Amino acid sequence: MALVIRNGRVIDPASRTDRVADVLIVQGKIAGVAPNLSAPGAAIFDAAGMIVAPGFIDMHVHLREPGFEHAETIESGSRAAAAGGFTSICCMPNTKPVNDSATVTSYIVERARRFAVVNVFPIGAITKGSLGEELAAIGGMKAAGAVAISDDGRPVMNSRVMRRAMEFARSYGLPVIDHCEDLNLSAGGDMHEGLPSVRWGLRGIPSASEDVMVARDLVLAQLTGAHCHIAHISTRNAVSMVAYARAQGLAVTCEATPHHFALTDEQMLPYDSNFKMKPPLRAACDAAAVADGVVAGTVSAIATDHAPHAGSEKMQEFESCPFGIIGLETAISLALEKLVSPRKITLERMIDLFTAGPESILHLGRGTLAPGAPGDVTVLSTDVEWTYDVNQSQSRSRNSPFHNRTFRGGPMATVVNGEIVWRR
Ligand SMILES: [Zn+2]
Repeated sequence: MALVIRNGRVIDPASRTDRVADVLIVQGKIAGVAPNLSAPGAAIFDAAGMIVAPGFIDMHVHLREPGFEHAETIESGSRAAAAGGFTSICCMPNTKPVNDSATVTSYIVERARRFAVVNVFPIGAITKGSLGEELAAIGGMKAAGAVAISDDGRPVMNSRVMRRAMEFARSYGLPVIDHCEDLNLSAGGDMHEGLPSVRWGLRGIPSASEDVMVARDLVLAQLTGAHCHIAHISTRNAVSMVAYARAQGLAVTCEATPHHFALTDEQMLPYDSNFKMKPPLRAACDAAAVADGVVAGTVSAIATDHAPHAGSEKMQEFESCPFGIIGLETAISLALEKLVSPRKITLERMIDLFTAGPESILHLGRGTLAPGAPGDVTVLSTDVEWTYDVNQSQSRSRNSPFHNRTFRGGPMATVVNGEIVWRR
């Protein structure tokens, strides 16, 4: 049971490696990175001309199982992850039942062990049923395998409850991931509040609905000393506030999604629900601020917020459609196109945002090619040309705004525990 990934340009930000070499994986673990490696009976993957990186981690996906298997399952979501170059994914708790107890966490871990082709790490709920009132069984979920807590999609509005959650999370050494949205300010909105929303007669979600909650969370992080992670940051003010908090030394991190730096509200196709998500696509100045936050180091991870919805749900009138888009299979290509190609960041920094960055937030024991690390590897190309056909997606859902888009660069192979689970 050995695999040699041969002659690729190996970039591992965690061990400051950038050179042409072989990567040898033996019995599911990295055995070495050096020229001319081999092992008896090893399978060989020729990566000449490609980039070889530690397995990519997506810390924000929705797998819909249990409860919404028509939209996605742990198996189908994991296959979409593999096809996007991800070897590890963290799944949000807004399933049915909500992942708010050790029982549900254990169920997800067990289903993933049996059916997933990549590593799956559950994120537990902050409150019971994600109803924002009573704290969930945080210690039990952690013992069962939860790596963070979040009420993603149903943000905790009660600041006293959030304070207690942060105090508990701190004592358990877990980050609190918050989807920052003041539900009273965003109520009824379907897209970003700006000129396009006025033009199309759609109700707006103001940037302020995100900003006030980010401000609250930063204050509570300071009060409690908890690690607060802001999910899918999307506004200029939110990026500035996180940068400020980090400069003050607070344990605050944030992630950016590809769609929030790749698209704006002006670029939406009017009334097309494949452009409807929360937070919404913002104004051009916000998308630029998110990209600048990536460049400046304010953003620690790129995460997709992969949110599958069945066609029947997304094909209603715009106002009735659920929020969210799938994103696993297009993330690397969008990061290359929007950040690396225009030379905003280096390839090494991009890889850092998908590996050591999320690892530093979640402590999964991954994100590096150091000897002894899990044999998870992402092989990508910066020049392969390919067109995304959402109808060929490994996901059960089709809600992507990037259908038919041609990319230069993308994942080439995904290796999990020394096994090639996907290749282009
Ligand atoms: Zn969210």
